[in-house]
Amino acid sequence: MCGIVGFNGYRQAAPILLEGLSKLEYRGYDSAGLAVRNGTADVELVKAKGRLRALYEKTNGGMAMEGTLGIGHTRWATHGEPSETNAHPHCSDDRNVVAVHNGIIENYKELQEKLLRNGYRFYSQTDTEVAVKLIDYYFKKYKGGPVDAIARAMMRIRGSYALAVLFKDCPDEIYVARKDSPMVIGLAGDETYMASDVPAILKYTRSVYYIGNREIARLGKGTAEFFNIDREPVEKEPTEIKWDAEAAEKGGFEHFMIKEIHEQPKAVRDTINSAVTEEGTIDLSALQFTDEMIRNISNIQIVACGSAYHVGVAGQYVFEDLCRIPVRVELASEFRYRNPILDPDTLVIIISQSGETADSLAALREAKERGVRTLGIVNVIGSSIAREADHVFYTMAGPEIAVATTKAYSAQLICIYLLAIRFAAVRGNITEEKAAEMIAELRTLPDKIERILEDKERIQWFAAKFSTARDIFFIGRGIDYAITLEGSLKMKEVSYIHSEAYAAGELKHGTISLVEDGTLVIGSLTQKELYEKTLSNMVECKSRGAYLMGLTNYGNYSIEDTADFTVYIPRTDPHYTTSLAVIPLQLLGYYLSVTKGLNVDKPRNLAKSVTVE
Ligand code: GLU
Repeated sequence: MCGIVGFNGYRQAAPILLEGLSKLEYRGYDSAGLAVRNGTADVELVKAKGRLRALYEKTNGGMAMEGTLGIGHTRWATHGEPSETNAHPHCSDDRNVVAVHNGIIENYKELQEKLLRNGYRFYSQTDTEVAVKLIDYYFKKYKGGPVDAIARAMMRIRGSYALAVLFKDCPDEIYVARKDSPMVIGLAGDETYMASDVPAILKYTRSVYYIGNREIARLGKGTAEFFNIDREPVEKEPTEIKWDAEAAEKGGFEHFMIKEIHEQPKAVRDTINSAVTEEGTIDLSALQFTDEMIRNISNIQIVACGSAYHVGVAGQYVFEDLCRIPVRVELASEFRYRNPILDPDTLVIIISQSGETADSLAALREAKERGVRTLGIVNVIGSSIAREADHVFYTMAGPEIAVATTKAYSAQLICIYLLAIRFAAVRGNITEEKAAEMIAELRTLPDKIERILEDKERIQWFAAKFSTARDIFFIGRGIDYAITLEGSLKMKEVSYIHSEAYAAGELKHGTISLVEDGTLVIGSLTQKELYEKTLSNMVECKSRGAYLMGLTNYGNYSIEDTADFTVYIPRTDPHYTTSLAVIPLQLLGYYLSVTKGLNVDKPRNLAKSVTVE
């Protein structure tokens, strides 16, 4: 998920690799490493945990590593804690194959078992080491050369990857392959550059080759040849990069927030795939959460802050409806000081993107002190909450740079759905068939999110119209209330427009007095049984002069009789509507902020990881 660079030419490689990696630092990482080759000598490996500075110092700015060919990597751990052992490059024990990898090998366990049966041993916890040894295995078994070995491995590997590989027998070549993880190649005279993102090579060339999904490339000194997975050559034309360095960091998007909004289909898909088997069943073994533990839960307390708390609010509806387990959701800063009543079979779920949120961490410690089982839903591997919770469910959102969360929030929701379906099935609240049906529907969410994103111009237009708004009200009932809480927070965070989310039925108990001519009221109406109720509340606002925006499912066209502007989302299981309805609201917050010319990625007074109480 983070950074790869490669160089093959006639200058010392290591300083160029370090500089390239520094251009990818914005992507976030926890460790880094280099592999450099000097002619036919063995590949030299240097790795360091933490900042790039550590690797820089260890190699004397790269000067200590002799050689004109090499690959470098910044790691953002997905499998195994950040450590020097788990840092890339990884190698086969005889250093026949050395490689770096971005992405996730979903079936690494199954491949590892195959390799163990064939005498391979493993020194790290990473999925990458498995990929490296699989390539080595095919290289030695079929003796078909590097492209053949990589192609055979690619046929067995499920997941996403950008791989850069060195082979002992090919001292002048770098091999690369990719699927669903980015990778660009640039040629400049007799030198070849390769990176997972354009900024790392922009200094040397603006003419790049994009290696396609499931393709392989052989990189010589100033040459690049491409192959498909059937080992047939593929012809390619270079593309001219027109972006400046800053835009390139954002993959051509104007800001990280909009880039990350667009990364949500992938974040959701990767999180689903991390816990759903190929046969379509949920496997919580990585969490070490057994069926017996599930059966024993008497109640659930979800504890979190900010957007993660809103995931909890949605989760409360989902858990209670599907599993019939009582759920309480609480702000971490409140939970700590409330002297909570926890029975021995309470499950405390802590949700935090960074895994370092001070209040959430303190709540986790409080719960543990009282001897109850704790489960963390966390994005950063090896973070404090991940280390201290009894069980960890990792969201596979990748590093999130924009302060206002989007993709981590979406990935957290997926963890909640998966837990709820599994709990409900184990406790007999739903049949295995129903669970299978729900998992199948879950797998359609990435495409449905994609469809909503395709329509973003409408939201952009609407945002331009309301950029001078002073107050905005969001209303919804049930899960729709959870959706509006997050929509309202996004709005406040990035556009600085005051907004409030209200349970729709509650508005008339006070807040409706604030509605006046032209006040924007946004109603979320994704739940069939509550549709008419919320619609009535919207009419009440309209009678007092409000301008109404409706957010509902395709098919509910009668809303147009009432709402002034409507956004439709694809139909899905009612438990999942948060995942779809939040997308237009994120876009609305984003476009309002951009229209107002604000610093959308770093809103005033806010920090990404809140490590103070
Ligand atoms: N899954 C690999 C690991 O955990 C690669 C992570 C990355 O993309 O940096 O080591």
